[in-house]
Amino acid sequence: MIQTADTNTDSGSNLDQDIIQTDRETVWHHLTQHTQFETSDPMVIVRGEGMRVTDARGREFLDATSGGVWSVNVGYGRTEIADAVREQLVEMCYFANTAGSIPGAKFAAKLLEKLPQMGRVYYSNSGSEANEKAYKMVRQLAHMEGDGRKHKIIYRDRDYHGTTIGALSSTGQFERKEQYGPFAPGFVSFKHCCCYRCPFGKSYGNCDIECARDLETVIQQEGPDTVGAVVLEPITAGGGVIPPVPEYFPIIQQICRKYDVLLHIDEVVCGLGRTGEWFGHQHYDVAPDIVTMAKGVASGYAAISCTVTTESLFERFKAQPQERLGYFRDISTFAGCTAGPAAGLVNVEIIEREKLLHNVRERGAQLMRGLEWLKQEHELVGDVRGVGLFAGLELVSDRDRRTPVAEQLAAAVAAHCAEAGVLIGRTNRSFKEFNNTLCLSPALIATAADIDGILHALDQSLARASNKQA
Ligand code: PLP
Repeated sequence: MIQTADTNTDSGSNLDQDIIQTDRETVWHHLTQHTQFETSDPMVIVRGEGMRVTDARGREFLDATSGGVWSVNVGYGRTEIADAVREQLVEMCYFANTAGSIPGAKFAAKLLEKLPQMGRVYYSNSGSEANEKAYKMVRQLAHMEGDGRKHKIIYRDRDYHGTTIGALSSTGQFERKEQYGPFAPGFVSFKHCCCYRCPFGKSYGNCDIECARDLETVIQQEGPDTVGAVVLEPITAGGGVIPPVPEYFPIIQQICRKYDVLLHIDEVVCGLGRTGEWFGHQHYDVAPDIVTMAKGVASGYAAISCTVTTESLFERFKAQPQERLGYFRDISTFAGCTAGPAAGLVNVEIIEREKLLHNVRERGAQLMRGLEWLKQEHELVGDVRGVGLFAGLELVSDRDRRTPVAEQLAAAVAAHCAEAGVLIGRTNRSFKEFNNTLCLSPALIATAADIDGILHALDQSLARASNKQA
């Protein structure tokens, strides 16, 4: 949900006009207004090594986005992963996941080591799809075990769960949904948990965590016998990098248990080390029934996502008689395609071997210290938030009123950073209400010098943007 900046830097010496032109004439880019794009100086990324990428013009960038959308957790150029994928493809490239595969089984076992309360791994190809599978499980359970009434899924304002119609129906970024209706029925929202913009006008310390308790209000309004699950990001990502307060998840958990509602945590962004734990929810006192993940699962070296459930949820399917269609009647052709789990397995081994969770905690602390300093230095920075190597800076034009800056100003800061050789992200321009947050998600391998480089570029770019604004 973040966008790398368009840059207007002069052409480098390795100008590859052909590929830039071919790209311009043939590719329909994601999240892109093509009239503007065609007159801009777009990046065609051609190489990556460690934390850095190079574009077709020969410009090198320190990538503080992990591939634009927080994916390349172990960094670029990992030949070890590429070799494992190659060997696996030569040995056995594909067979439908109705059958087993060696990497599929090994990777599932590895993932479950990191999620000891969970029992089963269901493979698919993208974050949206992993969430769709979870929604289908919830709906099917409602039909198998009852009359189908307990099928509703509650989602949270400002969360994003994907691009397909079901996933978008459960997304709380309303501008993102504009013009794509009608949406799937049975999805209902509750309030977000951003203290900086408390939906109840309270402040932390003087509230009763109403944002979490709003879930109960919505369950009661809808009727507890109609609500099957709640889906939440552990830390809202594209909606503005919003970590909940420590009390939040225990309250959510208690409400879910009270009303027999499954708790689905969407770890598509936070999963696999981004926050300094294997999964974002592991910072909080909570035990989900379903965990979905995608981006960092194989760090972008292959497409893979997973819907991981507790063994007891799996058993509820297993207990159903086959003749009453009591099994999960779902398949995606390429789900579990062997390249994905083969890449995922080496990805996790690298995180373990290089002790990257530890690095994330250390470098994350450095990053947060630096961001707090930037907040003191720059009036433009209204709030800084984050956990591990996952951080957001919310930009405001008036600190007292917390007025979000115009989208162009956030874009200008990102563009200045790119000119200074650092790619940063920002909340999506189609997220009109809160498109004023800059997002940082460097790879888990970031060094102290990389973090300093990111902070230095931000410092300069904020100064440049505020001078222009003055
Ligand atoms: N869930 C979250 C929290 C996300 O941020 C995203 C994508 O950014 C998705 C789901 C959708 O993942 P994908 O783009 O792989 O379908």
